[in-house]
Amino acid sequence: MVCAVGDEKGHVEKKAVFPTQTPHDTMKKMIDFFLPERIEALGIACFGPIDLHRTSKTYGYITTTPKKGWENYPILPEFEKALGVKAGFDTDVNGALLGEKTWGAARDVDNCMYITIGTGIGAGIMTEGRLLHGMLHPEAGHILLGRRAGDDGKSSCPYHENCFEGLASGSAIRLRYARDAKTLAGDEACMELESHYIGQALVNFIFTLSPQRIILGGGVMHMPGLIHRIRESVGRQLAGYIRTGELQDLASYIVLPALGDNQGILGALELAKQVINA
Ligand code: ZN
Repeated sequence: MVCAVGDEKGHVEKKAVFPTQTPHDTMKKMIDFFLPERIEALGIACFGPIDLHRTSKTYGYITTTPKKGWENYPILPEFEKALGVKAGFDTDVNGALLGEKTWGAARDVDNCMYITIGTGIGAGIMTEGRLLHGMLHPEAGHILLGRRAGDDGKSSCPYHENCFEGLASGSAIRLRYARDAKTLAGDEACMELESHYIGQALVNFIFTLSPQRIILGGGVMHMPGLIHRIRESVGRQLAGYIRTGELQDLASYIVLPALGDNQGILGALELAKQVINA
């Protein structure tokens, strides 16, 4: 859990990281971090699934997570009670996207996606300037993909044999090659398969959501050259069907994050600012 104190201009004054243990231990550490700071509002960009419906009795709860002790945990109400301030609340990936939209790689567009490709895969989506929630919130890491001919690797997702996360996450790479993504940097077969599956997912998102920019973050994206291979793969799989200015310049359309590893806390600062201004 990354905690930070900052201002409305995105200046971070103080930051601390606490391992996610039980709510009893971890909430106390986070609350003890914030209490002396006399913050005006809190922004929470939270792992999910979470309840984002403001009229729901369980608004602000973590719902069905496998993380021990956090299932059905009222994280937002507990923070508001302990700190005596209002809190903004969204998914971790929507938070990351909001950070990049406010201060980073998506400042100039209102329709964009932030996809994190790490141990798991998640996506934040903004349409017409608003973060998309809908029925629950997007779970775009679990869209189903067509398997590459000859690929019979085991999926890392316990629910789906051929979802994006099950085929292309860091966990999927570890299962397939028995090695970490970072040790496979020059491996042609790994790069080819990764860029094929990530490219296929991106093409589905492009056709469905019509984003004006896609930001790719997460540990797997640290593989040198992978972003270039993904752009080529997207170009091939779009097959010339749509032609826009954005798609003529895939290097500006599919990009790495601009905020290093700070997009999550900067997005949370923006969530807090929105609560104050509401
Ligand atoms: Zn899945």
